[in-house]
Amino acid sequence: MIDPALPEDDTELAVEGALRPGSLAEFIGQHKVRGQLQLLLDAARIQQRPPDHILLSGPPGLGKTTLAMIVAHESDRPLRLSSGPAIQHAGDLAALLSSLVPGEVLFIDEIHRMARSAEEMLYLAMEDFRIDIMVGKGAGATSIPLDLAPFTLVGATTRSGLLPNPLRDRFGFTAHLEYYEPHELEKVIERSASMLNVSVPPAARAEISRRSRGTPRIANRLLRRVRDFVIVHGGTAGAASEGDVAAALELYDVDSIGLDRLDRAVLDALIRRFRGGPVGLNTLAVTVGEEGETIESVVEPYLVRIGLMGRTPRGRIATPEAYAHLRIAHPEGALR
Ligand code: ADP
Repeated sequence: MIDPALPEDDTELAVEGALRPGSLAEFIGQHKVRGQLQLLLDAARIQQRPPDHILLSGPPGLGKTTLAMIVAHESDRPLRLSSGPAIQHAGDLAALLSSLVPGEVLFIDEIHRMARSAEEMLYLAMEDFRIDIMVGKGAGATSIPLDLAPFTLVGATTRSGLLPNPLRDRFGFTAHLEYYEPHELEKVIERSASMLNVSVPPAARAEISRRSRGTPRIANRLLRRVRDFVIVHGGTAGAASEGDVAAALELYDVDSIGLDRLDRAVLDALIRRFRGGPVGLNTLAVTVGEEGETIESVVEPYLVRIGLMGRTPRGRIATPEAYAHLRIAHPEGALR
């Protein structure tokens, strides 16, 4: 499966690093968020203070980490990377926060997965740049206040609904990243192709973009598979044609609209096992042998966005378009 949630391996991580835009001007798409961030950074620069805390939400692979890096780079501050799952105790967070240098940008990926006890410590840290460290246990326990260097927190989450309100309220700026439009992905592909030194004419770029689930990380990954294909098969006059793209990507189970095996398995289960739904998300996840969180943050948003899955109060349903895409006859009278 092509999981946009995570880079595939170390090589991909390295390539991702190389392909990451380094400035807001180079960052493609997300015009509104870019404009808002620019204003925020400019104001902070003029007043010579750290930018406000920033919360970025949206499906994986849309550029949240990249934007955090850009915030640090454009405001000329060091960056520290961490993630919710790495902060399992308040002590982990205390160690992290107390080691920040003044003005540092702290990026916490998957911030919704941080331990509750750490969340509470973070409220005070974000607001007053201070934490209370508990020492001792029971009746003799005391708390020692500790001043922190001012910092900018950039939190990223695929599930902003899971963040407690007090945490969400402490971010001065919240942005939701949307899936990219095809022409924006074509630009991402054009930029990456020139950096990877592979010739991908416009028609082939459009074909890759159609299959990229609106996600730059996937566009870059598919582009690398297409590059492999051209290296091995020579391509059409050394460049990738639409046919090369189709052949390369079908090999990796990416279909004509970019659905991968897991997307299709979910739709197939919804239609064949549950007669088109409605069915609860967790039941669906168990049926396809995947984590509920992956289905909810990766699979569902895209299927809903392209109109193959619907959300109702009683659960998820397959739309007539989903039947058509999987070439399964739609049961008569079941049109919703
Ligand atoms: P997230 O943190 O949301 O999962 P990343 O910031 O790690 O996503 O982005 C994944 C990859 O996609 C990076 O390698 C980056 O190069 C590329 N990318 C993301 N957004 C853009 C963009 N707007 N323009 C160009 N490349 C992008």
